[in-house]
Amino acid sequence: MNEPGDLPGAVEHDDLEHDDREVSATPVRADGDFDAGLRPRSLADFIGQPRVCEQLELVLHGAKKRGGTPDHILLSGPPGLGKTSLAMIIATEMGSAIRVTSGPALERAGDLAAMLSNLIEGDVLFIDEIHRIARPAEEMLYLAMEDFRVDVVVGKGPGATSIPLDVAPFTLVGATTRSGSLTGPLRDRFGFTAHMEFYDTDELVLVLRRSAGILGIDLRPDAASEVASRSRGTPRIANRLLRRVRDYAEVRGDGVITVDIARAALAVYDVDELGFDRLDRAVLDALIRAFGGGPVGVSTLAVAVGEEPATVEEVCEPFLVRAGMIARTPRGRVATAAAWHHLGLTPPAGAMNATFGVRPREVDTRTVFGDI
Ligand code: ADP
Repeated sequence: MNEPGDLPGAVEHDDLEHDDREVSATPVRADGDFDAGLRPRSLADFIGQPRVCEQLELVLHGAKKRGGTPDHILLSGPPGLGKTSLAMIIATEMGSAIRVTSGPALERAGDLAAMLSNLIEGDVLFIDEIHRIARPAEEMLYLAMEDFRVDVVVGKGPGATSIPLDVAPFTLVGATTRSGSLTGPLRDRFGFTAHMEFYDTDELVLVLRRSAGILGIDLRPDAASEVASRSRGTPRIANRLLRRVRDYAEVRGDGVITVDIARAALAVYDVDELGFDRLDRAVLDALIRAFGGGPVGVSTLAVAVGEEPATVEEVCEPFLVRAGMIARTPRGRVATAAAWHHLGLTPPAGAMNATFGVRPREVDTRTVFGDI
């Protein structure tokens, strides 16, 4: 859903994935209004991500003190962790308007030039999925970010002329699920990069309690823990599971969400104790049964389960890595011993040990080995 202040071309529902998985972190149509109503509105309201929040607070307050605009900010991390919410909070904290668009919507440099020339001093320009921006628009962005101006090319061929246009000082907030896909020149122009981490269960319990409070749902504490532990470290999934569990409680019970109601509801939706759903289990199954535990490339794995490589890579895999089921190695994805056990199989001698509890960034070898 667009927020007030959006320009034409802002992210609309049509950009959303059509994904029917309850535990997918990508927004689906039904999430739109629901998400918007539950968005935290200030840094104080934002649960978790303490490091990011502290760093952001310094960046924003530093800028406020100097009476200038904050550095351009890049928010990177898997979907559903609060990047859009943070972008809106940045604007609110600065007392600025936010203009929202997305990389895929900026197909032509002219689209971006129109947005940039409409900015007012201090505005926040939020570009979601900034790694998908087209090259000509990206090149225009370099100058806009650095010097607050753009060169608009008028005409074609030998008669073409370039007209310089000033852009009001603004802060670009870019969000990406694939910071590795950003070009060096674009990445270098962000003064501050925040890496969003998956949330732990206690933080998700707070997210769920907050949402239940806003929605007037009676969510019992042990039920909150149960839902939180199956939410894949992702607030958007926690909120979506809350919605499913609320339906179940209203239809099959008296509306109160007890732990038994939560478990029964999540069983209906095939979300297991670790938060894995059918697709996660299919990926593990293919990796182990079809490829002997790997190593195998992510595209091959995606074909084996009949999914888009991007879904497997951006949604499934980060969580499976975090849960210690899959390791990324220079030769491809490898199932850990824990994955074999999860499927009730005996791991072969020499199977990799799980990396339980390790943050995804620390086990993400992409930065070292490039995209495998
Ligand atoms: P992203 O842009 O990273 O995909 P969003 O900012 O759209 O994620 O967050 C998805 C939803 O998850 C939000 O609407 C909000 O309801 C919830 N959410 C995300 N982060 C938090 C948080 N830190 N505290 C409370 N709710 C959150």
